Amino acid sequence: MPNTILIPTPLRPYTGKQEAGQVDGGTVGELLADLTRRFDGLRPHLFNEAGELRSFVNIYVNDEDIRYLDKARTAVKPGDTISIIPSVAGGVGVIAGQELPTLTNDEVKRYSRHLIMPEVGMEGQRRLKAASVLCIGAGGLGSPVAMYLAAAGVGTLGLVDFDVVDFSNLHRQVLHHTPDVGIPKLQSARNKLEALNPEIRIQTHELALSSENALSLFEPYDIIVDGTDNFPTRYLVNDACVLLGKPNVYGSIFRFEGQASVFATKDGPCYRCLYPEPPPPGLVPSCAEGGVLGVLPGLVGMIQATEALKLIIGAGEPLIGRFLIVDALRMRFRELKLRKDPDCPVCGTHPTVRELIDYEQFCGMRPAAPAAATEKPMAIEEISPRDLKARLDRGDDLLILDVREPQEYQINRIPGSVLIPLGELPTRFGELDADREIIAQCKVGGRSAKAVAFLQSVGFNRVKNLRGGILEWIDTVDPSQPKY
Ligand code: ZN
Repeated sequence: MPNTILIPTPLRPYTGKQEAGQVDGGTVGELLADLTRRFDGLRPHLFNEAGELRSFVNIYVNDEDIRYLDKARTAVKPGDTISIIPSVAGGVGVIAGQELPTLTNDEVKRYSRHLIMPEVGMEGQRRLKAASVLCIGAGGLGSPVAMYLAAAGVGTLGLVDFDVVDFSNLHRQVLHHTPDVGIPKLQSARNKLEALNPEIRIQTHELALSSENALSLFEPYDIIVDGTDNFPTRYLVNDACVLLGKPNVYGSIFRFEGQASVFATKDGPCYRCLYPEPPPPGLVPSCAEGGVLGVLPGLVGMIQATEALKLIIGAGEPLIGRFLIVDALRMRFRELKLRKDPDCPVCGTHPTVRELIDYEQFCGMRPAAPAAATEKPMAIEEISPRDLKARLDRGDDLLILDVREPQEYQINRIPGSVLIPLGELPTRFGELDADREIIAQCKVGGRSAKAVAFLQSVGFNRVKNLRGGILEWIDTVDPSQPKY
């Protein structure tokens, strides 16, 4: 007795419009092999180049989801019915089931290169016009995301940010230009995006995203694009997306490496399925501390924009259940399979997180409760750049310890300072003379405070932290040096 495989509508063009196929075999893999022998055109839609079942294709045996089993080897009995369920099939994007706006003649002209593509066409472009996307952050990732989504005709584009444009943003945040330095990023973004495409609606939200405002802010939008640069906001965006059932188009960047995925779709994994817990604070440096190659947010942001467009028009194979790693230094793209974790605290079968929490606390940025002061941390003494300069001029014997990275030291430095990067201090503190008075210094004073605490813990008693780091030194003592 043969088995029946039910063919979903989007795949019927490849089966001569047949809704079901009769196949023979003892396992799901054998049945699918028999099916693709009969309908060769189906193969690329079900299997990747390596012959593996595509991750977005779910298989049901008699209504039973076999996602967590080895799909191909799952045994079947004669008479079993197999269903193929692509998680986002053609034409079933986030805009399904609503009436679509029509396009004006001007819009037809503007989007003509979309309209002649079978994957977009008139209907896809109308879906784009009906769609609304909220971009968290108008910085490195937000710039290409917002520009390409605006150009592509996404009808409503929301932007969340509260920063002003800084000189150090310009090498990668291409929404903002040199004359914009000092003005709010949202104002700069609106100017560019309105000039790029006056047909769309731009909604700016000048606020810091928080557990109090995230749900009501996300609610009206179809898709959320995560262009944030810190862990508390990343977890907040993820959890809010899961709670609201909105896709989270994720991207992150650091130096030469980027990551991208699509989280929090109905059947797909979320960011917490991948990383249930954040790294301890300070372990993973931010772009402000570690730097980022200027084009990298462009590369990753455009992947995010592409995924958002695909979700809207309902075409192709989204990055759901796949984690893309971009190594720009070697120019390699790697892809890891991601599964929805049934034990995930937010999107699992028994979620423990049912409302937004305190993400600063979750990420260890702030203690959960007033810390029981059993062991009082030693106070860190500070000195201002002006006082340091006065003491140097007086001829005091001071050792200025710069704990930044060598690349930072090449940009600017306090004359006579000694460079030992914070990460090397535990193995190199022996190079320092414990009897001399030491002034630790970094860019703004954070890393050097850690250096002072460390040196105190290993017996250095005369260590002070330079308040405000090299930046305050340049502001108040030596304006001739460049800032970064
Ligand atoms: Zn999850």
